[in-house]
Amino acid sequence: MASKNSASYSSLPQSNGNGNHINGNGPHKDGSKKKRVLIIGAGCSGMSAAYAFSLSPEKFDVKVYDKAPSVGGSATSYQLPTNLEFGAQYINDGVQGCSPVFFNTMKMFEETLGFKASDVGMQISFGKGKDTFWSNVFPSELVEEFKGDIKKFGKILHVIKSFEPFFAVIPVDKMLKMFRFSPSFGNETKHISSAILERVFLDPSMRLFEFSEDTLLGSVPHMKAFPELARVYGEWKNAVIKNGNVTVESDCEVNSIERNTKAARAKGGNILATVKGTRQESFDEVIFACDADSVLKILEAGSGPSWKEKKVLGNVLYKWDVTVTHHDWDYMCKHYQMTYDEKYNAKRDDEDSKRHFNLQRRIGSHFTSSRCTKMILHKLK
Ligand SMILES: Cc1cc2nc3c(=O)[nH]c(=O)nc-3n(C[C@H](O)[C@H](O)[C@H](O)COP(=O)(O)OP(=O)(O)OC[C@H]3O[C@@H](n4cnc5c(N)ncnc54)[C@H](O)[C@@H]3O)c2cc1C
Repeated sequence: MASKNSASYSSLPQSNGNGNHINGNGPHKDGSKKKRVLIIGAGCSGMSAAYAFSLSPEKFDVKVYDKAPSVGGSATSYQLPTNLEFGAQYINDGVQGCSPVFFNTMKMFEETLGFKASDVGMQISFGKGKDTFWSNVFPSELVEEFKGDIKKFGKILHVIKSFEPFFAVIPVDKMLKMFRFSPSFGNETKHISSAILERVFLDPSMRLFEFSEDTLLGSVPHMKAFPELARVYGEWKNAVIKNGNVTVESDCEVNSIERNTKAARAKGGNILATVKGTRQESFDEVIFACDADSVLKILEAGSGPSWKEKKVLGNVLYKWDVTVTHHDWDYMCKHYQMTYDEKYNAKRDDEDSKRHFNLQRRIGSHFTSSRCTKMILHKLK
């Protein structure tokens, strides 16, 4: 589900050559022995780190800075004009939900923050008409056309799993060519690592989809839809600052980081951050909880990245995708197949497929009552 690439990475203390850590845990100028940590970014990774530190107020003093006006990073929500028109008061922007394997996130939403994620089934339509309509709700002619590729894809997923370190650096389009898939089979995520693709099908802790060798996805996957993210993050911020050792500042860009420089040590720490253009602050540790491009930019503006950092961080392309969420039924019907239509059925002759198809068809007619596609999140109950 992710289309952006974030880097969550801690700049660990470095040695001064005598085997001692330069920053150490020794007393600071103010006499405190607490470790002072800077977290750059208040999206889910920065907030998770901050939350963990907030549980040890005797050990850490933490500042979370984010250049955006509110916390949440990519996870934002909008208030809708009226709840009567859309049947909801808000819409989560981009980030929608996850598979139930992320049980701990759901538990935290519910037990710590008081928000419940809802059960949904995910129905997908990528287009309209004989050549572009694909659905995980009922087998279409397009699925029939690619049935050989789909079967092969199931086998290749296991090959990728066996040689995961190799396939981690092979993007999906190269992998498809390597295994001679049909040229028009699956090119929507061509730059993503093949290992990530394999994991969303096979890894029990990352799994989003159930593979079906008949239909690619096994009917309608059970998912969880996140509650209103702006309120969740508001409450999360309150939980994080509750113990007094963590502060969270929005509208606060970190411009550069110097590590282990004379100027940094003169300020009594290992890390010297320039914030909001001119403000200089000293820390013992820094956690970059922002996209890889921003990390590289911050390091380049300061004491510079190591060659390894340059290579790793420069290798991750940050994509400024635009997500458009439509609620216009006429628009959606113009571009996507929104309702069940018999003419797109795959022609199935064998008994097993017929049984499967009848089940799909029942779900398919359910599909007609649901509004909103591309990624349809639709209540199971
Ligand atoms: C369109 C879309 C749909 C998605 N759908 C889903 C989904 O349904 N389910 C799911 O689980 N995931 C989804 N994801 C992925 C998910 O949103 C991300 O993986 C997650 O939000 C990343 O969190 P993060 O904390 O690592 O980074 P981010 O949320 O990107 O946070 C990074 C923060 O760093 C801040 N920052 C950057 N530079 C600086 C600086 N110099 N100084 C201070 N602050 C800075 C930014 O302002 C930002 O707030 C989706 C992503 C997108 C884009």
